[in-house]
Amino acid sequence: MPVKISEQDPEERKNNFKEVCLGYNEDQAIEEGTRCLQCKNPQCVPKCPVGVDIPNFIEKIKEKDFDSALNIIKLTNNLPGVCGRVCPQEKQCESGCILKAKNDPVAIGKLERFAADNGKSTNPTKLPDKNKKIAVIGSGPAGLSCATDLSRQGYDVTIFEALHLTGGVMRYGIPEFRLPKRIVDEEIKAIESEGVKIKTNYVIGKTLTLNDLKQDFDAIFIGNGAGLPYFLDLPGEDLVGVYSANEFLTRINLMKAYDFPNNDTPIRKGKKVVVVGAGNVAMDAARTAKRLGADVVLVYRRTIKESPARVEEVHHAQEEGIEFMWLTNPLKIIGEKEVAGIEVIKMELGEPDESGRRRPVPIKESEFTIDCDQVIIAIGQGPNPLLTKDGALDITKKGKLTINESLQTSDPMIFAGGDIIEGETTVIKAMGDGKQAAKAIDEFLNKS
Ligand code: FAD
Ligand code: SF4
Repeated sequence: MPVKISEQDPEERKNNFKEVCLGYNEDQAIEEGTRCLQCKNPQCVPKCPVGVDIPNFIEKIKEKDFDSALNIIKLTNNLPGVCGRVCPQEKQCESGCILKAKNDPVAIGKLERFAADNGKSTNPTKLPDKNKKIAVIGSGPAGLSCATDLSRQGYDVTIFEALHLTGGVMRYGIPEFRLPKRIVDEEIKAIESEGVKIKTNYVIGKTLTLNDLKQDFDAIFIGNGAGLPYFLDLPGEDLVGVYSANEFLTRINLMKAYDFPNNDTPIRKGKKVVVVGAGNVAMDAARTAKRLGADVVLVYRRTIKESPARVEEVHHAQEEGIEFMWLTNPLKIIGEKEVAGIEVIKMELGEPDESGRRRPVPIKESEFTIDCDQVIIAIGQGPNPLLTKDGALDITKKGKLTINESLQTSDPMIFAGGDIIEGETTVIKAMGDGKQAAKAIDEFLNKS
């Protein structure tokens, strides 16, 4: 069995924003590393979207050479402290581990986190200067990975970030208790130390246009994420006390609103909060509302089996006392000016829909009301149209950028990746896109 990792006690942690998982100590990491069979043809590696050399870094942990372990990871993954904490390893590397057959794969993610927290990395050698400039839009995982790989190839890379702080969703979406911001800061600082320049407070499409960038740069990567939240389109959504999870979490994470009036941004602290949705974003919103002192109910129209959230997140939310109402769908939000409740209906699962999941169908006359003073909607988000509204780049019917298999847009010098093309996915998938685009940009510039 994998070595058990320590966590903050649920009763304690539901009242604070400190990290839930406490990580392995040295002995635990070495013991867990010893479980790795050092397979000759390791199936964990192809399951990692950025191809980390897993057996080799684990071997270095076993040898107590934590610096080398980290350097091996950083050759292909420049955000190991982040990924070790938030990647859905159970669906990726760990699902390919040979020990998975016995249901106890090596805890690769926890070991990656250990290497990131305990190793010291050295910047890899850069190729000679290519005298070409690249602009990267957005400092989320897609932009940071693309920028690092291109900088290592000898390009002069500048990231333009709309906000005053870097990191994208890692900064303003994922809460401190899952991903401490000092980890994001440290890993971005290391990327800057490799020569990547970052300019904050630059909203491309406003402060500068794509055309401005085209004048000054040889190629552009767009990694501006999916920051536009979807709403339910139900009566009552305009009542005071209804938030998108995006706004709620940004106020908490980026603006530290829970500390109002010590800072400028207020947040409504609900006493009874209903969160709609069951992905990672919904879990984060629910667990954050809990930490602000609320009783929290999470409603989802399907069952726990179809919930897109990581198993670990659902488990943590349950331990912290979040109430789950599966097979329950909202009909309207009730209230005069402010939220007073939400009317919902019970559902059952019918035939599979186009997503392959069984379609939820309302059960007649099963409506009921949940009293609450705050509703947080976490049903997904899509691309912000700011960069595409002038029609310069082709987009799909759903407003996503049209790209080819090299992640090249309809303008040959502009590439894109991450949530902007996929809708909300994962940190590591966005990083994989950033790396793929960096390779394609290098090939494009070598040809031109
Ligand atoms: P983003 O991270 O969104 O970064 C885009 C950046 O571009 C932002 O900094 C934004 O400010 C900037 N930008 C936008 N427009 C412009 C512009 N016009 N000019 C300049 N800059 C611009 N994934 C996991 O793997 N594990 C998890 O546990 C997990 N939990 C999540 C929890 C929440 C609450 C959310 C919202 C997402 C979560 N995800 C998780 C998904 C993951 O964070 C995203 O898939 C990933 O961050 C996408 O990376 P990106 O670089 O494409 O975009
Ligand atoms: Fe180690 Fe599992 Fe990868 Fe084999 S598949 S090298 S046991 S982590």
